[in-house]
Parts: sequence; structure tokens; C-alpha cells
Amino acid sequence: MIDMKGILEKIESPLLFLSRNAFKNLHLVKELEFTMEGLIDNADRVAGERGDNGRIREILQGMRLQFAGFDDLGDEEKKKRIDSALQHLSELRQSAGDRPDGEEKNVCDQGGLQESFDVLSRPAQFVRGVGPKMAVLLSRKGIATVEDMLYFLPRRYEDRRSVKTVSEAVIGQRETVTGKVIEAREQRYRRKVVFEVMLDDGTGVLTAKWFQGNYAFLRKMFKRDRYFFLTGEIKGSLFGKDMFHPDYELIDEDDEDSLNVKRIVPVYSETEGLYQKYLRKIMMRVVTECGRHLVSPLPDDICRRNRIPGMTEAIRNVHFPGEDQDIEKYNDFTSPSHRRLVFDELFFFELGMALKKRGYILEKGIAFADGQQRLLTEFYEKLSFELTGAQKRVVAEILADMKKPHPMNRLIQGDVGSGKTVVSMAAMIVACESGYQSAIMAPTEILALQHFRNISTWAKEIGMHAALLTGSTRAKERKDLAERVASGEVDILIGTHALIQEGVQFRKLGCAVIDEQHRFGVMQRALLREKGLSPDVLVMTATPIPRTLAMTVYGDLDISVIDEMPPGKKPVKTKVYYEKHRDKVYDIIRREVEKGNQVFIIYPLVEESETLDLKDATTMSRHLQQEVFREYRVGLIHGKMKSGEKEEIMASFKARAIDILVSTTVVEVGIDIPSASLMIIEHAERFGLSQLHQLRGRVGRGDVSSSCILVAHHGGSDDARRRLKIMEQTNDGFKVAEEDLALRGPGEFMGTRQSGLPDFRVANILRDGRILNDARREAFAFLERDPALERPEHVAVREVLLRRWEGRLALAKTG
Ligand code: ADP
Ligand code: MG
Repeated sequence: MIDMKGILEKIESPLLFLSRNAFKNLHLVKELEFTMEGLIDNADRVAGERGDNGRIREILQGMRLQFAGFDDLGDEEKKKRIDSALQHLSELRQSAGDRPDGEEKNVCDQGGLQESFDVLSRPAQFVRGVGPKMAVLLSRKGIATVEDMLYFLPRRYEDRRSVKTVSEAVIGQRETVTGKVIEAREQRYRRKVVFEVMLDDGTGVLTAKWFQGNYAFLRKMFKRDRYFFLTGEIKGSLFGKDMFHPDYELIDEDDEDSLNVKRIVPVYSETEGLYQKYLRKIMMRVVTECGRHLVSPLPDDICRRNRIPGMTEAIRNVHFPGEDQDIEKYNDFTSPSHRRLVFDELFFFELGMALKKRGYILEKGIAFADGQQRLLTEFYEKLSFELTGAQKRVVAEILADMKKPHPMNRLIQGDVGSGKTVVSMAAMIVACESGYQSAIMAPTEILALQHFRNISTWAKEIGMHAALLTGSTRAKERKDLAERVASGEVDILIGTHALIQEGVQFRKLGCAVIDEQHRFGVMQRALLREKGLSPDVLVMTATPIPRTLAMTVYGDLDISVIDEMPPGKKPVKTKVYYEKHRDKVYDIIRREVEKGNQVFIIYPLVEESETLDLKDATTMSRHLQQEVFREYRVGLIHGKMKSGEKEEIMASFKARAIDILVSTTVVEVGIDIPSASLMIIEHAERFGLSQLHQLRGRVGRGDVSSSCILVAHHGGSDDARRRLKIMEQTNDGFKVAEEDLALRGPGEFMGTRQSGLPDFRVANILRDGRILNDARREAFAFLERDPALERPEHVAVREVLLRRWEGRLALAKTG
């Protein structure tokens, strides 16, 4: 490690030499400026490499200035400057000595921690300058406490280190100028009204122009004689220099306020009555007075490995970057200080996840026998196909989990049609072989029924009993079934998620399979555990979730991926059409039906809506049957139908008594109709990409090659066009998911309700994927070293972890 102390000593020694014996040697040294410049630059470079903070580097820069022109100064001035430099150096040496890598000493004793927690929890009003009125405004921004204030990060940063005069400002560059309004008016050019402000700074006049916007507001803002900062690109015009739609900020004439000028200035998100200058003032106060209470006791080695600065310094820089900082990194949220905040947040999040996972591991579960696997072998022999390599690998992962004496918690990700059901069947057979029952839960009755059809056929062949229990099972049948489940006669019970809510008593539940779990939340595992059951749990999802997201939402689960399709499965050819090509689309449908194939047409709505200008399934099925496809049989299915009715329609579609099935997204998951070869999705621009991918997975399940047509109704938006094009380009669910996540953000991607997404303060899993990886690895390794966080030096880590998880991260708790 580079020795900062040594470097500082090198700067110090000539100064000490000079100052000795009342500066007796002052005349012996020539060209001190040159020597100091070299030494200080070296120290500054090292400080930069170590990720040291603004403060050290600020002092160094200050010292450098002190020695500028030193050799030409008078003796008294020289002495003064040497003294002041020595003082700064001793301060620097102390801090450099104490913190090997810029990491400040952790507040480690519990008393200190408690005090810090108390400060953080205080209401914002505790900060001087925040009165009741401002507190209300702040609360509108979600800021209630001192901690919230500290985490209220600038939206962007403005470079005001060098404010240019109007005459210096270079055309084509982005510059900041400051001056007085000498004229503000609306100007009419032909048919356009432009709002113009002329700003004079003594060296010239700059004209700011707005071509649209709230001119009344601008008129009130840009009063004559007021002083402003304007930032924007300088344009040259016949009459001088212009700026179009500049960023602006009102300043007082005598504003010498160092918060607003001659530095990198933070720009916060404003609201009515809450403006930059005030925000900067109170933020400076809260950062200086309370910043050090933002305890983040990350062990030194972790900070060093990940090259992140200390927390106090990070929070300070993030609000008020030092003069030497790289503003572009700040504006990208990738400065070392931002990284520190993000790492800190994700580390404690992943540490909690690691603990939860460990909790399951410590929980007592069932160790299934690793015996002959007679039934499983028999099952494979009778199966009409061979498992793919990916399926075999995932089954092996599952079986390894099942043998262990604690509950399995595994997520199986696999694209539509990758064959997840048969993999879960293998797990249920192994449970049965050890004398345990299994349950499989699907999000809809249609899917439960389909699972029942497949699974009961497989089960019968090897002498196992499967049964179906759904909302439409009759009372008498239900009672009878309950008895058979309680007695252990039923090996596999299939149903909707209602299964576990309805108090079905199993004799010996060993394995619970949850299909498409993200559709009905993350509560199922918790519910099972509440009932005192700790079966092995398999969660299956066909919505491929990008890795970073999976780590946050399912960070406490083990993850298996079936990344191979069964042989012969052909990709679904996808094409985007626009409304104007409707006739062509209908022709394609006709051709398909003539070939003896079947077609799905999906609409976003069940019935006509008064507020939305969208086609609906009910109206359109009537229209299509009566006016477009009179010669074919058009059916209708949607989520508002009774389940008996839905089943009937699916059955007749399967039996080919229907040619064209008009539907809403109820067919989204799992439905198996081998002869359906064409899917039309109307108003495709209304759906998320992952959802479109799910939907098109409904076709192409048989031997015929199949296709999907996305009909875009508002073909105008470039965004929508680009989005839909992605569907044409790839059939890989993971790629689609990545794009979808990038386009819509995590919240919408997961569906806002029940998303299980933690409410991060600074981390953004799209942007910070790499930091998430690092933080996760460090957190899991940390827990390896100290599994119960018992070591005395980890007291602070434990306390901070508890506090975080009781607070915002609690939202992400899944069980
Ligand atoms: P999903 O992963 O979408 O739930 P399924 O489990 O429903 O997919 O399987 C889709 C279809 O593929 C089913 O008809 C299933 O029997 C079949 N299948 C599964 N695995 C294979 C395989 N290895 N070879 C051939 N067909 C398979
Ligand atoms: Mg499935």
C-alpha cells in the first residue's frame, strides 16, 4: 500500500527545516515554489488513486496556491505561509495515519451508534433553518427525517467552477455566465412569439431565448435588474451571443455565497416554494452537522477491495463535490462517492438476504431418501420423450437439494415451452418415493386443469394418485377430496393458490411447487411456513428475470435456469403490422384456417370501455364472426367468464370445434394447443415485451411452424415501434426480458403490486448491476466468516443491518 504519511512527511521536511530557529534558514532555500508544486502534486495524485476525499485534496490544493509566487514574497508573508502549511500538514498526517484507505474510523461502540441512530431518526425540522412550513414542503418530497435529508441527492450538478464573462464565453461551448437583466420581453417573429431576456455583465450582453413554455411565469421571474446565472450552450447570432432555453438561477446582487458560485453546484429536485438556494443551505447544514452519523461500518478490507471512499466523505461529496472532482462522473451517478452510497445500500441488502437464506438452511427440513429411485426410473422409461440436457441438469440440482436435511428454496426459470412441468414432476416423484405428498399450485384454474391433465396421466402410469382442487370443485366432492388428502391417499394435489389458503390438511406434505409465482406474489412460501410446514419449495417462472433483478427479488433463493428448448420446437416468427394493413392480416388468418390450423386473436380489454379507445374482445368477436369470418367458427374467452364456461371453450378449441379464438390475456400462461399456429395481438403497443413473449409462447407448441402478428394501432411513436421491433428480432425470452427491463424499469417490469422489489434510496439495479454483484459477493463471503455476526468488531454491522431491515428494506421481506 502506498504510504500517504511518508509522502506528507516529504512535503513537511523542507518546511520544518526553514521554520527552525525562528526561520533562520529562510534565505538558504531558493525556488521553494517549484519544489512544493512537485511534492504536492504527487501527494494529490496518490490521494486521488486511493480514492481519498475532497477534504484532503482540498487542503493540498489550498497549500499549492499558498506557494504560488512564493519566491517573490516578502519574509513576513513567507513565514506566515510556511506556518499555515505546517499546520495543515499535521492535520493531514493525522487523518491519513488513522485511516489507511480513506475510510474514517467507524463509530463502533454501541452508545455512539445509538446516538447516531437517534440523530438520523429526528424529524427534518430538527435542522436549523427548517421551520414547520418548510417541513411540510419537504414531506411532499418524501423527506421526513434527517436521514431522508441526507439521502436527498442532487438530481444533477452544475459546473460553476469557472463562470465566464459574456465576452469570454465561447460559441458552441456550454458555459455559465452571470449578470443583470436589462430587458425581458415577448418578441413576435412572424407567427412565433419568443420570450427574450437580455443579460448584461459589463463585458457584453447575452440574449436568452425561449421558443415555448410558460411565458407568464418567465415574465415574473426575469424582472429587470435582477441577477441571474444562466447555463447553456452559447449560440452565435448576428447581434451577439444567445442561449436557448438555458438553465437559470436567481441570485442576490451581493451573493458571495460560496454554496452557489465558484464550485460544482448541486441541483436538487425543486417544488413550489422550495428552491435551490434554500435547499443548498439546509443541505450544507445537515451534511456538516449530521453527515457523520450516517453510519456505514463496512470492514476496511471490503472498502479497499472495492475502492470506495468513506461514508462521511461520500455523503459530503455527493452533495457538495470538491473542486477537483470529475463532474461528469457525478452527473452519471458513478463518482466514487455515489458508488460508496450504492455499495453500502446493496451490501446491507444482500447481507440481509444472505441471512435469510441461511435461516432456511438452518431450518429443519426433510431429507428425502437417496434410494433406488425406482419410481423415477420407471417414469423416465414411460415418458414419450427424453429430457433435454438443461432439464437433466436442473433435476439433478433439485434432487441434490432434496437430499439435504433442510428445506429447498429453489427458483426454476425457463422460457415458455422449455418444459418445466416435467422437471417439477421429477421432484414430486422423489417426494412420493420417500412417502411424502406434493402440491402444485397454478395462478389460474385453466392452468391448474392443464397441469392436472398432464400430471395425472403421468402419475397413473407409475401408480401415483393425482387430484384436482379448484374454486369450482363442488362441496361434496371437496369434502371427499379433503379426506383423501388427509389420509395420504392423494400423492399430488393440484390447484390454484387457494390450495394453501383453504386449510387443506395434508397427511405429510413434502414438496410444494408454485407455478408462475410472480403472478400471485411472494406470500406463498411464507404462508406454508406459517402453517408449520417446511416442505421443499420449487418456484417456477416462465418470465425470464434478468440476473440483477432475480438477485434482488429472489436473492434468498437458489436459482436454476432451463436454458434449452426441447428438440423440434421451432421459433415463433414474429412480425409487426400497422392498422392500415388490417386486410392483409385478415388474409393471413384466412390462409391459416384454410390449412386446418387454429388462430388466437388477443385484445387488451374484455368489454367496450368508455374511457379507453381500445378494441375489446367481446365486441370484436361478434364483429369478426358476423362480418369478417362468417365461414369460420369464432369463439370467445375472457377472464370474467365462470371457470366452467372457460374450460368448456378451451376444450372445444382443443377439439377443433373453434377455428379462431378471440381472447384476452387469460391465455397468457401455460395453455397447450398444439394445432394453434397463429397468434394475432391487437394493440400490441399496450403490452410489455415480456408479456408479448408470454403470449406468443402459446403458439408453436405442435409440429407446424407458427407465427405471431403484432398489430400496432398507434404506429406513430418511434418508441413503440422500436420496442415491437425487438420482438421480431429475438425469440430468446431472456433477451426480451433484458430489453423490457431497460425500457420500462424494474417497478413496471415486475408489476407494481406484489413485486417484492425493495425500495432503494440510491441504488438503481439497472445502472448498478455490477456493484450489486460485488456487494452480494462480499456480503455472502462476510457471512461465511462470521455466520451469526457475533464477533465484537461486527457489532456495528449487526446493529446497522437490523436498523436498515426494520426500515425500508422490510418492504422487500418475502418470508
Ligand atoms: P413450460 O416450461 O412452458 O411450463 P411445459 O412443461 O408445459 O413448458 O412443456 C411444454 C411442452 O413440451 C409439453 O407438451 C411437454 O410435454 C413438452 N416437453 C417437455 N420437455 C420435453 C422434452 N425434453 N422433449 C420433448 N418435449 C418436451
Ligand atoms: Mg408451465
